[in-house]
Amino acid sequence: MFGKHLNVYKLMRHIAKLRKRIKYWQQVGSQAVQDICQRIDKAYKLFFQQFKKGTRPPSFKKTRKYKSFTLKQAGYKFLSGNKIRIGNRVYKFSKSREIQGKVKTLTVKRNNLGELLILVVTNYVDKSFGVVTGKIAGFDYGLRTFLTASDNSAIESPLFFNSSRNRLKAASRNLSSKKKGSNNWYKAKDHLNRVYEDISNQRRDWFWKLAHDLTNKYDVLIFEDLNLDGMKRLWGRKVSDLSFATFLEILQTVAAIKGKVVHFVNRYYPSSKTCSHCGYIHQELSLKDRFWDCPSCNTKGIQRDLNASVNLQREGASSLGLDTVRLPQVASVV
Ligand SMILES: [Zn+2]
Repeated sequence: MFGKHLNVYKLMRHIAKLRKRIKYWQQVGSQAVQDICQRIDKAYKLFFQQFKKGTRPPSFKKTRKYKSFTLKQAGYKFLSGNKIRIGNRVYKFSKSREIQGKVKTLTVKRNNLGELLILVVTNYVDKSFGVVTGKIAGFDYGLRTFLTASDNSAIESPLFFNSSRNRLKAASRNLSSKKKGSNNWYKAKDHLNRVYEDISNQRRDWFWKLAHDLTNKYDVLIFEDLNLDGMKRLWGRKVSDLSFATFLEILQTVAAIKGKVVHFVNRYYPSSKTCSHCGYIHQELSLKDRFWDCPSCNTKGIQRDLNASVNLQREGASSLGLDTVRLPQVASVV
């Protein structure tokens, strides 16, 4: 009624008292409890801000539904041999990469499969961030070759792209052969979820690494502004599983951090149908033509994707007002 809620510090003090009396509250560290108070505070503030839109007030959350908690400086300690002490217990974990820099926060998270993950935020800054290379490149996106760059380098789709499609197919076939609601059906469903999660993790990992490689190599990266519907029409099958859009999102995130530019050329620009030598537009070019043979200037045998990426580079550079041969120092460190 008055738009007021319990003050976050009062709540913290209250829970600190509870912690002393009730053992159950001592399972997680004091900072994790403080973090929960801050989350509750945030949720109430958001609720009052959006009150008129009819949002519901924050409500009770079961322990099982709680997906994560965050620790700051205390309450945990990394031990040797991939072990970590959180509270009074020691846990073993497998490490995806070495931790660089000083740990600022540590979040323990449970995903939909019930797996526990440790997410670490550090103050480490990659030295390669924001290094200006003076290079600009256009990229054509394809199925077999993931990206063809205008400097004639290519990034092949990793082999797991294919194998993961087969794994997914097998798992969903397995599920549909089971009686719905039966024990085996639930098992098959869990398995399908696990395969799905594995694949998307594998892909995202690859995408992040690729995004870092490309932004280290180039200052300006030019792509065709594809919409997924158009891509589906073009290749006549479901391409959303290729998650190219996810890659572009990740690339844009990384580029923004490093002060690099990702630019999109209008999708109506005929990047495939234009000759990268003379500019002739070959309307009859079909998808089957894997090589560019120019009817006008007699250029022959340029790979179709390379021709397109060179065009994208030129078109993108000119719309940005840049010289394709030598770049002015446009990139700046954010
Ligand atoms: Zn030509």
